[in-house]
Amino acid sequence: MSEPPATAEEFSRLALRPELVRALAELGYEEPTPIQREAIPLLLQGRDLMGQAATGTGKTAAFALPILQRLPEGDRRTAPRALVLVPTRELAIQVSEAVHRYGRDMRARVLPIYGGQPIVRQLRALTSGVDVVVGTPGRVLDHLNRRSLTLDHVETVVLDEADEMLDMGFAEDLEAIMAASPVDRQTLLFSATIPARVEKLARRYLRDPVSVQVGRGPATPGGTPLVRQTAYVVARAHKPATLGRILDVESPTAAIVFCRTRDEVDRLTETLNGRGYRAEALHGGMTQDQRDRVMGRLRAGTAELLVATDVAARGLDIDQLTHVINYDVPSDPESYVHRIGRVGRAGRSGVAITLAEPREHRMLKSIERATRQRLHLETVPTVADLRARRLETTRAAIHENLLAGDLDGFRVVVETLAAEFDVLEVALAAVQLAHESSGGSAADEGDIPEATEPTGGVGRKSTATMARLFIGAGRSAGIRPQDLVGAIAGESRLTGRDIGSIEISDRFSLVEIPDAAVDEVIKALRGTTIKGKKAVIRRDRAQAKRPRSRS
Ligand code: AMP
Repeated sequence: MSEPPATAEEFSRLALRPELVRALAELGYEEPTPIQREAIPLLLQGRDLMGQAATGTGKTAAFALPILQRLPEGDRRTAPRALVLVPTRELAIQVSEAVHRYGRDMRARVLPIYGGQPIVRQLRALTSGVDVVVGTPGRVLDHLNRRSLTLDHVETVVLDEADEMLDMGFAEDLEAIMAASPVDRQTLLFSATIPARVEKLARRYLRDPVSVQVGRGPATPGGTPLVRQTAYVVARAHKPATLGRILDVESPTAAIVFCRTRDEVDRLTETLNGRGYRAEALHGGMTQDQRDRVMGRLRAGTAELLVATDVAARGLDIDQLTHVINYDVPSDPESYVHRIGRVGRAGRSGVAITLAEPREHRMLKSIERATRQRLHLETVPTVADLRARRLETTRAAIHENLLAGDLDGFRVVVETLAAEFDVLEVALAAVQLAHESSGGSAADEGDIPEATEPTGGVGRKSTATMARLFIGAGRSAGIRPQDLVGAIAGESRLTGRDIGSIEISDRFSLVEIPDAAVDEVIKALRGTTIKGKKAVIRRDRAQAKRPRSRS
């Protein structure tokens, strides 16, 4: 499917190079986030900037795109032109992967440097030449002292998550690094909070900076009292299972699930359908005709879930909607308010549910501030909750059946059994049958571990490390998510809930499973067939590359 011009237009209106616009469209970004819209033009003008923005706002692209925009087209020198300082190794890796993805078509050379990684590898990369260095202050300073890194040609320095860098005691290292960078550099500072010590840092290193804030949107007058607002903090790998659990407990009549990107919309729709929900994708890459058909199916009740990006859902007015689910935290409180404004209209009640990753906890706070409403943090429904809910559904169905009467045709069955058993026991057995035949058994499911907010930089708490399996069969072999879940859960000790994201492209599939189980699963699947075919199965090593789910 060709990219619709709308996507490219919003980003190219920011005067970004075509290579960058193309990379963004391929990542499925449909429009800039508020911080990108505001910061990018200012940064392209060369201004210094102080941005109050937490993780989840799209701040990485806000500073990375202008840096990439300025890289010269031809041969580049060995020394870096930009330096991004971050508090932790995880962030160094994450930011450098993002810069790499955005700058792929420009052949941007990006290097993460952090403690713990063999310095020799970093030295080799630095000698062969890099455009952007993303590093933790300690290791950057090491390289400066060894003279393996020079900041003489650096045009832009970014202090990312400045509050955390100060909390981690990097003030002196920062001082030394800034002293080694050119005085006429451009300096950007991003911080989720701006306490006095961050302000001091800004006064010291920024020149006549512009300030950009995300998360201080206007409070909604009157609020949205009829909407019950809740949030769950879960690790990314557990999001699909958590969403399933929430949907089972809430059983919405019609829900809209918001994702950030097109690719996420496609992937999640596939996963949900694989797990038995009737979900439809809606994003900016679809023609008006396709969108009308999707809306028709939702209105007619043949679909119960709409998975959409903000852009695609704009202007949609769906009466039946009972639930708005933010699969990802929206990039600013205003878009949160827009999204949840779709339920609770005209006196009807509605539910807004947000899934946040541990690092996005702060975004939830800004949403509370901006909406002046509390977001109730809830724990992911347990198996016991689910069982209770399903029993209640069975009870209600039987109750309805009793009221409807007309049961005489079954009298003979009960009477015969009653000669042998107590009537109550007969009823219990009948209820069990009814319950199980309505898919009410939750016996094979386990509980989803709770994720907590990270506390500081070192020793961040993390849940089970996930790894990806490469399976050499994909859509063209008729593979669907349920086939993969079935094969893995059927052949190994893993259950459906242990399985993370599933991506199916034409010729192969990638499935996230706990790292510790990889060898076992590969062994178990060797020799078996998936959809009647033998397929290559191995650990996927190209972690940074995600296949597109559309061709
Ligand atoms: P950040 O706040 O920089 O950590 O970004 C949060 C997430 O939003 C990342 O997963 C990005 O890939 C994603 N993202 C950034 N900009 C956009 C955009 N314009 N549209 C959709 N997703 C985005």
